[in-house]
Amino acid sequence: MKDYLIRGMDSNGNIRFFAATTTSLVEKARKIHNTSPTATAALGRALTAAAMLGVDLKNEKDILTFRIKGDGPIGSIVTVANNKGEVKGYVANPHADLPTRADGKLDVGGLVGKNGQLAIIKDLGLKEPYVGLTNLISGEIAEDLAHYFYTSEQQPTAISLGVLVDKDISVRAAGGYMLQLLPGIKDDEIDRIEEIIKNAKPISTLVDEGLDAEEILQNLFGEFKIKTLNKIPLEYSCNCSRNRIKEVLISLGNDELEKIIEEDEKAEVVCHFCNTKYYFTKEELVELLK
Ligand SMILES: [Zn+2]
Repeated sequence: MKDYLIRGMDSNGNIRFFAATTTSLVEKARKIHNTSPTATAALGRALTAAAMLGVDLKNEKDILTFRIKGDGPIGSIVTVANNKGEVKGYVANPHADLPTRADGKLDVGGLVGKNGQLAIIKDLGLKEPYVGLTNLISGEIAEDLAHYFYTSEQQPTAISLGVLVDKDISVRAAGGYMLQLLPGIKDDEIDRIEEIIKNAKPISTLVDEGLDAEEILQNLFGEFKIKTLNKIPLEYSCNCSRNRIKEVLISLGNDELEKIIEEDEKAEVVCHFCNTKYYFTKEELVELLK
């Protein structure tokens, strides 16, 4: 089943809804990075969140980076998205793993660690990117992101993210949903939403049962008469190219480039997001110096 995201609004205009199925793109990330099961879950949750955050960007060229850096063994998690449904990401230590928790779940919170920071960086093509920062509270990612919205943007938000890893360590189901409660919302509506979320099956179970993004929202929150605003296919996609890598090399500056030419006589640059390797000969590097 193809991954996609939908964005919707309730009939009163008080709740913004997002839902995404991300099984295929998280599996692609797992294959690229060869992540351990718990690292797959952590990266998959972050990629799903980035997809939902990215769709809110105004312009096609805007780029959103969702970065989590805790004190757990996975190190930093970096995910990037745009409003066209293209996402990519990597983690510092893809092979880091932890035993499953007593309740049988993957210990994402332990792998990420709870001492650290979450950052949302929006590159809107202006001189300086917009950077929002908050401390992590659990390392479980959905909780941390909800905390970010509440503290940094004064935006009450409910978020659920989930990745189900199969016995053969491939991704069996992944997805997420997010609700943003706007100022007009009534207390009884908030109570009802809390009740629904409390009693809902895990999002990865709903995806595993074959529900698509629209069905997930209707299934859980149908009573709010959700109107779908847009539906966007999602994919794991890296836009790196030889030209972009050349720009990166040039941005190192003349001194650094001369040093590489003298000491290594060649350069190998690996894209973090898709692991594509780019080779440059001494002659090519000399050309870049000019
Ligand atoms: Zn790449």
